[in-house]
Amino acid sequence: MKKLSIILPCYNEEETLPSTLPKLLLILKQLEKEKKVSPDSFLLCVDDGSSDKTWQIIDQFHSKYSNIFGVKFSRNYGHQNALIAGLSVAERKADLVITIDADLQDDESTIPSMVEKSQNADVIYGVRNNRDTDSAFKKITADGFYWTMKHLGVDMVPNSADFRLMSKRAIQQFLKYDERNMFIRGVVPLVGFNHDEVLYARKERQAGETKYPLSKMIHFALDGITSFSVAPIRIIMNLGVVTALIGIVLLVYSLIQHFLGNTTTGWSSLITSIWFLGGMQLIAISIIGEYIGKIFTEVKHRPRYNIEKDQTSEMEEKNNALE
Ligand code: UDP
Ligand code: MG
Repeated sequence: MKKLSIILPCYNEEETLPSTLPKLLLILKQLEKEKKVSPDSFLLCVDDGSSDKTWQIIDQFHSKYSNIFGVKFSRNYGHQNALIAGLSVAERKADLVITIDADLQDDESTIPSMVEKSQNADVIYGVRNNRDTDSAFKKITADGFYWTMKHLGVDMVPNSADFRLMSKRAIQQFLKYDERNMFIRGVVPLVGFNHDEVLYARKERQAGETKYPLSKMIHFALDGITSFSVAPIRIIMNLGVVTALIGIVLLVYSLIQHFLGNTTTGWSSLITSIWFLGGMQLIAISIIGEYIGKIFTEVKHRPRYNIEKDQTSEMEEKNNALE
């Protein structure tokens, strides 16, 4: 029987955890009872440097239940890093890992069918079959984002977020992607292996507010695009070529005007081209800057997170004591 670990990234989730953990525990118990997963399966909460009572709550649950564990970051490192930390901790201790948001917006009742399907596949994506609970703005921006990613040649499963199951070997391969600016949804398909999907309707957040304000979302989308594609650089290069051609045409035009004696006119075209070119250059520089920024962070090879406390290490100690 396979050992399952469910990972929850938690950032200021004091309002949702007290109801989320019992719900997941119930699902885990049921799976254990039906002998679908081994009885030492566990929940792993990664506290992403919360400033509220999140860690105290995890700690309380940990002392009450033998199959709930927490890992605490020393500060906020972001959702993606919390997931990576959870995966690398769980990979050593479990055979199957499911990642799910702590607010349970992704339908936890599909977990048993994910486990079922994992017999024939290494990665099971949770795919949303509607976006009814999203605002119109989020729908449009999300669609635009997936459209852009697709046209930039990034193989992503549309409408799947970070709710998925991965097998041990899929995680091991995934963790070899050692990039700092990790965009998990783009990297998982690169790992390959057999994959499958479960469909679900995404719910409203049960309590608290989103930890992904617009600024974080834009950053996330930009990270996704620039981590996977050099297409923006090519677009800028093509634009540059076109602009240069227009410049040549304008030069010919102004020479003709000069010989016709009309040189006093043309101030407006001059000023527009100055502004236009200035704008183009700024866009080009900013895009190049984006990539240089990426190189900068990759070259530094900084640790992605720093775990302050890890309750799963007790698991090994207990096992060792038993042996
Ligand atoms: N999260 C995190 N670190 C952050 C921001 C969010 O670990 O810096 C977690 C958060 O606790 C939740 C998940 O990531 O479990 C998704 O966040 P949220 O539900 O706020 O995003 P939304 O569903 O609104 O996109
Ligand atoms: Mg959410």
